Amino acid sequence: IIQFKNVEKYYDKFHALTNINLDIHEGENVVLIGPSGSGKSTLLRTINGLETIQQGQLIVDGKDLSSSKTNLNKLRTDVGMVFQHFNLYNNKTITENITLAPRIVLKRPQSENEKVAKKLLERVDLPDQGAKYPAQLSGGQQQRIAIARSLAMDPKVLLFDEPTSALDPEMVGSVLDIMQDIANTSDMTTLVVTHEMGFAKAVADRVIFMADGKILENSKTDEFFDHPKTERARKFLSQVE
Ligand code: ATP
Ligand code: MG
Repeated sequence: IIQFKNVEKYYDKFHALTNINLDIHEGENVVLIGPSGSGKSTLLRTINGLETIQQGQLIVDGKDLSSSKTNLNKLRTDVGMVFQHFNLYNNKTITENITLAPRIVLKRPQSENEKVAKKLLERVDLPDQGAKYPAQLSGGQQQRIAIARSLAMDPKVLLFDEPTSALDPEMVGSVLDIMQDIANTSDMTTLVVTHEMGFAKAVADRVIFMADGKILENSKTDEFFDHPKTERARKFLSQVE
């Protein structure tokens, strides 16, 4: 469902992604790891068109992101993203946050959106919180709302960029639990940037390790953790685990 072929990305003269070749299949759960500045966020953001690429080919759900003619709004209804800092609308209630995009973008009837929101709030273990505002919830709860908001669009692909790294340690588990539930119980494709190696081991079908804008390893999860092929990955693992 996601295909990178010889992709190159520059920020002006800075070479942020070098010769990226990557296939992610429908329904796969992939974790992307690597040191700070290695290009993980950049790679993730190219997938929903938040960053443009300069060379190579990138196809997401049949849409060619190397072409400027691709309709990014249409793409983003099928490719959701959850950010480190939640990015909720603080002046809207939780239910409004969850129902906004389905109503405006998908033009689904609001009565249906509200039913879906209620179900999703149960799914992220925050039933009956719909009338509150984001500031009335903890960071971990806000992140679970951000996940519910993405799920309301029923995306084919869900991208997570360090969804737990801004949270207090005691909040991390509840968010990872929801993500694990999504990975295990849906046929959605997920790509998660995280430093949570326990999560990666438990949930990922495959691990991608990046450094300096390059993919150094792309392996089945057990293989990656048991037998990292590169010195760079071994060193990284010894630091994060
Ligand atoms: P982290 O773990 O710290 O989030 P990362 O692996 O997500 O790091 P990126 O954010 O993708 O790394 O950044 C990769 C490189 O590109 C870094 O050297 C960064 O400084 C640079 N970079 C990122 N965004 C921009 C930008 N908008 N303009 C210029 N350079 C950028
Ligand atoms: Mg990043």
